[in-house]
Amino acid sequence: MFVAIDAQKRTYNVLHATSKAQLRILRQQTTFFCPVCNEPVRLKIGSHNQPHFAHIRTSNCPEFERESAYHLKGKEKLYQWLHRQKFNVEIEKYIPDIAQRPDLMASKQDVSMAIEYQCSTISCELLVKRTMSYWRQGIRVIWIWGGNQLKRRGSHWLHLSDMQALSVQQSGILYFCPEAMTIMQCTPLIPFSSATAFSHIIPHSLRTSQFSGVMLQQRLDVSTLLNEWNRKKKIWRHHGLYLKHSQSPFLKYLYKKGISPSCFPPEVLIPLPSLIGFHTAPLLWQTHILLEELGCFSTGDTFAASYIYNRLMKMVKIRRLPYLSPALPKKALLEYFQFLCGTGMLAQRDTYTYQKLREPLLPFGETEAYEMDKEVIQHTAALFPTTLLEENRI
Ligand SMILES: [Zn+2]
Repeated sequence: MFVAIDAQKRTYNVLHATSKAQLRILRQQTTFFCPVCNEPVRLKIGSHNQPHFAHIRTSNCPEFERESAYHLKGKEKLYQWLHRQKFNVEIEKYIPDIAQRPDLMASKQDVSMAIEYQCSTISCELLVKRTMSYWRQGIRVIWIWGGNQLKRRGSHWLHLSDMQALSVQQSGILYFCPEAMTIMQCTPLIPFSSATAFSHIIPHSLRTSQFSGVMLQQRLDVSTLLNEWNRKKKIWRHHGLYLKHSQSPFLKYLYKKGISPSCFPPEVLIPLPSLIGFHTAPLLWQTHILLEELGCFSTGDTFAASYIYNRLMKMVKIRRLPYLSPALPKKALLEYFQFLCGTGMLAQRDTYTYQKLREPLLPFGETEAYEMDKEVIQHTAALFPTTLLEENRI
């Protein structure tokens, strides 16, 4: 950390020091303490890293985990970056009402925000608790993950942990690597499974980018999404859904239905704009709708969307997304019905009423399945907005 106190509770910020020589003199004259746990801390003045304070003993203090060289370097670079843009920036400012010390507090004109630069794992409960406590004080909070937390799975795919999903805003997720001096903006996030999502991974160099630039919503390249999605879907079909073990409840389910794992209907595992609302993988909940819920209806039957929604909610897990609308799962379901209307399986009879027109497609073999996938996925393209979505809630 960059801020400590002395025995008289005076505050010292090493980033305000004019030279290392000045800090060395100060170190001889002063005993420093952690402002959070009050344990003694040492002022470290090395040749490689920015001078900083470090707990002398291993500690349970929440600041202790934030003392890695990577974290300190990143925090310093972000501080300078915001400072250059004429933000009024305070580092490790203590907010007594909520007992929080955000890495950075930045304000300019009518914008005021806390920035949490998180380079290590944090429990989901703690992350939500911190976010909510800022909000209760009317403080906007932006989580920026360490670049070391970005787990890429190819040029358009990343690992989306439950922890990181909690920080998703309309503009996506941000990762910052102080070594590359780059903020990676990952947006939009369209989950293929519970932990893997499609995304554009957009680099913003800190040398040339503005804060407002990294918070901008970015347009989705729909054709890239559809191509990438079907490429992955093909791999899943070919490798038995990557769930080779015979204990997989989903494989057992397909077996019971007499469907080979490579020949599940092309109308499932479909990307949708609001898909992130579900934690349950799209393959599972869409199959449930297609084969179980709609399977109960005969051709010509009509049904209300709310009937299916209520039944679906009993079998799926919803993703916790504090920054986004709680209506996302409902929107995703309606998008799925829209998609099925596009394929000719359903017809919309009223705002929330649909009619079943045909049974799902069942390919005879892998080759036919790939062909069907290619055709069917086109019907979801129109669902992705060409204009940008509404503003962030906070
Ligand atoms: Zn401490």
